[in-house]
Formats: sequence, structure tokens, C-alpha cells
Amino acid sequence: MINPKWRIPATKGLGFKLGKGQMVRVTDVDGEQIADFVAYCANDTSERLDPSVTMDALRTMKVKPGDILYSNKYRPLLTLMADTVGQHDFINSACRSEMYEVLYNKQNHASCYHNLNQAIGEFGIPAPDQHYTINLFMNTVIHPSGQISIERPLSKAGDFIELRAEMDLIVAVSACPCAESACNGFVCTPIDVEII
Ligand SMILES: [Zn+2]
Repeated sequence: MINPKWRIPATKGLGFKLGKGQMVRVTDVDGEQIADFVAYCANDTSERLDPSVTMDALRTMKVKPGDILYSNKYRPLLTLMADTVGQHDFINSACRSEMYEVLYNKQNHASCYHNLNQAIGEFGIPAPDQHYTINLFMNTVIHPSGQISIERPLSKAGDFIELRAEMDLIVAVSACPCAESACNGFVCTPIDVEII
């Protein structure tokens, strides 16, 4: 059997179903590219992956294999199975066109918010007020002063993370279209997604 596999072009998004027990591998194809990740319970889309709840339950924002990612209702949604990077972001919500207006004075910029809305829309899930994403490979550094800096991702070409679904899910992934900051190493590149 051939595993379903997609290449998300730079700046684009993808939605797909992930059945309970299935595993998804998300790969940074060229390196230094982040992937905004959301997941909804297929049977009740009011329940979704929640990075804040996950941090509350794990008491860390540095996840490692074996850790569970939780829903907004404190139920296990996914388990981290493998990770070649070990640095992901749980605190920044999805970029959206308004962000590019405010931070970079650019109008109608592509965004993870739009990409994710489009991806979940194909499964009948309405656009939320914002996407509270887990940002795979994103290198957010919190300094002792409280200052937050977004630095170049630590991921190199071919680095990946694997997550196993603990219930039937609708998943969406966005290859973040921000070339304006170190977030994606100042250049947007593709993301591979494979169900394994
Ligand atoms: Zn983004």
C-alpha cells in the first residue's frame, strides 16, 4: 500500500483526515521552514488541538517523544512519536493579513490564517476567529527579561516530526508564508506531509 503523501508548495496549506492510530510525518524539505499545525476532532469540531492546554498539562513548551498533545477539552489528541529537531512554538497564533499590515506595512499578504481556513473549509469546518497553532520547527526564544525573539529555525533539510492520532482528526498544515523575518530564515519553502 502506498502511503498518502503531499508536498505543500511554499506559502500554501493542506487539509487531510487522520484516523485514530494513524501517524503523520511533517518534514521540513529544504530546512528553516516552519509549519503551522491545527487539528480538530472529526466527530465534534468544537474540540481542537490546544497549545495552551498542552503546555498546562505538560508543564513545558519543550515537547519530546512520548508527550501527549491535548485538546481544548483536556483530552489526548495526538502523541509525539519522533522528532529530529526538538524546537517548536506553542505561543504564537497563526500569522494573518492584518499582522503583515501592522508589522510590515504590506497589504493582502498570504497568511497561515487564510491557508488554514481554506484547508479546514474543505471539510466543512467554519473559519475560527483565529488559529491557535502549534508551529512546528518555529524557534521562539523567551529571554529572562521577558523579551521574545523569533530566530531562525533549527531544522535542516529533511528534518521531521511524527505525530500519532489518538482520535479521528481533521488536520490542517500551512507552510508559513512569512519571508519578512527570521521565522522561516527569510525565504519560504515547501513542507512534506505523509501519513505513515
Ligand atoms: Zn504563518
